[in-house]
Amino acid sequence: MAFDSKGGGGAKELSVLIVGTGFAGLGMGIKLKEAGIDSFTILERADDVGGTWRDNSYPGCACDVQSHLYSFSFEPNPNWTRMFAPQPEIKAYLRHCAQKYELMPHIHYNAEVVRAEYDEKAAIWNVTTRAGETYGANVLVSGMGGLSTPAYPTIKGLEKFKGKTFHSANWDHAYELEGKRVAVIGTGASAIQFVPQIAKKVARLDLYQRTPTWILPKPDREITAAERLLFRRFPAAQQAFRNSIYWMLESRVLGFVINPRVMKLVERQARSHIRRQVADPALRAKLTPDYTIGCKRILISDDFYPAVSRANVEVIDSGIQEVKANSVVDASGVERAVDAIILGTGFKAQDPMPRGAIFGRDGQDILDAWKDGPEAYKGSTVAGFPNFYMLVGPNTGLGHSSMVYMIESQVQYVLDAVKTMRREGLRSLEVRPEVQARYNAGLQQKLGKAVWQSGCKSWYVNEAGKNTTLWPSFTFKFREETRRIDLVDYRTETRVSTAKA
Ligand code: NAP
Repeated sequence: MAFDSKGGGGAKELSVLIVGTGFAGLGMGIKLKEAGIDSFTILERADDVGGTWRDNSYPGCACDVQSHLYSFSFEPNPNWTRMFAPQPEIKAYLRHCAQKYELMPHIHYNAEVVRAEYDEKAAIWNVTTRAGETYGANVLVSGMGGLSTPAYPTIKGLEKFKGKTFHSANWDHAYELEGKRVAVIGTGASAIQFVPQIAKKVARLDLYQRTPTWILPKPDREITAAERLLFRRFPAAQQAFRNSIYWMLESRVLGFVINPRVMKLVERQARSHIRRQVADPALRAKLTPDYTIGCKRILISDDFYPAVSRANVEVIDSGIQEVKANSVVDASGVERAVDAIILGTGFKAQDPMPRGAIFGRDGQDILDAWKDGPEAYKGSTVAGFPNFYMLVGPNTGLGHSSMVYMIESQVQYVLDAVKTMRREGLRSLEVRPEVQARYNAGLQQKLGKAVWQSGCKSWYVNEAGKNTTLWPSFTFKFREETRRIDLVDYRTETRVSTAKA
């Protein structure tokens, strides 16, 4: 299928192809429409909207950022039932947004992008889906998310296991866990949410912990009917509530980036949480990390420690030697029979795209442009890849606040780029390599002082020790930077193909 590309950028018919229907892809579509730009298509690999909030449906899945902030600023939801809404509510919210803002006719389902190539002569992105359909557009926007490809561990014998195996991001709800012997691998953000849910059902749960994580109390509670009524009647009250959450979370940047010594105070809170909830000193020692709090993502939970303190749960921290047909053998040689293995092993955050997927100018694979790890200008544009924009791109992730806020900032940036192309009659916009390099040198300098580089191993930092994922400052600083596109930073071509160096 060929999308209405009109060969390279007429002023009105400039076409945009968006990939993904999570907060990023939907947010982009909504803002294009609001700006009167209707010539866009959204490609979605699945058969429903929702991105990570569609895929992750494991028991207990909920946001770990307060929902009144973790939602679009332009579409407040007065009906959140809890401070940290459960996954079904967030998925329903995204569906509501897609319907309310009339995005459904723009969405093509079961359209997984497997290849996108920039045709320099035509200034067109040619995109192929797994089903073999083709699309062409002037502008390509990736809303694929940084945490969308599950990471499967390499463990000896895992492929020979005869029982049930699944990843937390592909939960098999048809598999009955009642009375089963279950091994869970991983103790990250996902595992600490589903372990308490399944621990009460299973016969026994062997939790394989590679690195303990710092956990703080979860300030969750029900949003009362009276509060919801107040928010419905007086939207300003909800806005004030949102603002108070925003500034409370923003103050955490002080500890993460500016003065990591502040984290000692937070660590004290985490230590007292574990002391209160775990009575057994040996188990407490096992669960207590030895790295500075915040270096890995800080988790929040009130039910994880009670769950792992149950008689039918064992925390195994010696490592895994191998998996056999019906059992897991730990590194000390103890073999435990199991019926199922659940992988809570996270996502491929360092490889947001596979090789052979995105080709820019001169047919360059984006992974070859990223020899030292993913890198972009303002998390959005990449030198050598004209008219290509990434939402939730390199170094836009957060350890302290709502990604939806970052997404809205980036959407504004891309929207301004598209509007500028239309207004100025441009066929291409490409960030200058020296601008990108200078920007990233500045970012890395700031990151060098941050708590994330304080000596732990996390998905934030790649094998070479470079942090390619996190934004090292206040989110309002990012918003300031992405308010508009500055053509000085970009190489442009007009529609008659005259390059401006
Ligand atoms: P994660 O935080 O990366 O945790 C993965 C876990 O698996 C870690 O405990 C890791 O150990 C372990 N692991 C990985 N490979 C292993 C191996 N080969 N052998 C043994 N253990 C292994 O992944 P996640 O829990 O899915 O969360 C990922 C991110 O998604 C979070 O940081 C967060 O940003 C987001 N998330 C958000 C929410 C929410 O908002 N509610 C919920 C879930 C996830 P090591 O620590 O030693 O690497």
